[in-house]
Amino acid sequence: MDPTAWAREDIRSLRAYEHAAWDPRYERLHANELPWRMPGDRSVAGLNRYPEPHPHALEAQLARQYAVDANQVLAGRGSDEAIDLLVRAWCTAGRDQVVLCPPTFGMYAVAARIQGAGIVPVALRREQDYAPDLPALLRATALERTRLVFLCSPNNPTGQLLADAVIERVLEAARGHALVVVDEAYIEFSGSPGWSARLSQWPHLVVLRTLSKAFGLAGARVGALIADPRIVALLRTIIPPYAIAQPSQEAALDALRPAQKSVSAARIAAIVDAREKLTAALTASPAVERVWPSSANFLLVDFHEPERAATALREQGLIVRAFPGAPGLERSLRITVGSAEQNQRIIEGLR
Ligand SMILES: *Cc1c(COP(=O)(O)O)cnc(C)c1O
Repeated sequence: MDPTAWAREDIRSLRAYEHAAWDPRYERLHANELPWRMPGDRSVAGLNRYPEPHPHALEAQLARQYAVDANQVLAGRGSDEAIDLLVRAWCTAGRDQVVLCPPTFGMYAVAARIQGAGIVPVALRREQDYAPDLPALLRATALERTRLVFLCSPNNPTGQLLADAVIERVLEAARGHALVVVDEAYIEFSGSPGWSARLSQWPHLVVLRTLSKAFGLAGARVGALIADPRIVALLRTIIPPYAIAQPSQEAALDALRPAQKSVSAARIAAIVDAREKLTAALTASPAVERVWPSSANFLLVDFHEPERAATALREQGLIVRAFPGAPGLERSLRITVGSAEQNQRIIEGLR
């Protein structure tokens, strides 16, 4: 089944902007660029030149990283851009809707509101360690106007991985009318292989990965949408030309070099180790009511007096995330696992 069949009709018939031809064999007098680099420009390609409009080398490298084919990958400005493009292409304003499971990453709802799509929230159940309410999630997924179901695994801000069986059931309920988007921004810290290996089985599955978290490239803004080639091709018609800036392409290619693999692996292992130590230390702190189990590089922590805790951490020069007004998270702070020295200061600050 073609997963673009239920995308917006006007997007499916859109012709993409035709950018200047890209053929590095010729000298470029067709794109109105200056012939000189600025002094101090240390990029490989020269910032006086537009970047490659469709970043083939980057997408090929991302495909190798995630063990998929290059035509299954769309590079974007962070996975945030992928979220926005999906909602734009699959949701007709005022008619279609997205399903999400709060508390979760805020961008899904923001992208839906910008597009004028409806939002069907299916709350995670705090009393069940923030597991989803599966029957309610399946009912929301099955609604005729549902076009996207956002599943965040591990979930931000609660930290837990979704069970494979839950994702499978949602994929079954979505068949024929909705895409299931599994946002794996933190999957590297979870020990789970993630879902990209199962794409051939599910043409309406979309996996989001990013270089912002485990690869330490948040400033470069590079993420990957991984999906059926027909989904990728449709989104390619609406992503802005030259989306990935040249310094970002070069930084991402550098970070994904095979020689850097061991660096990233060691850093991920160090964060996972520090997460377990910080969990133990926080659990022992009298200021802490509960530390939720985490498969990511942050901890959701409930405090007896959350405002006092946040103030104490700020006095240590540390800022953590609070969730004013979010139901169920009134006493919670989300704390990123930092360096050993920073983690030590967290514990000292709470003493
Ligand atoms: C941080 C985060 C992202 C955004 O990543 P970018 O690639 O930097 O845009 C996506 N999803 C979740 C759940 C996140 O926490």
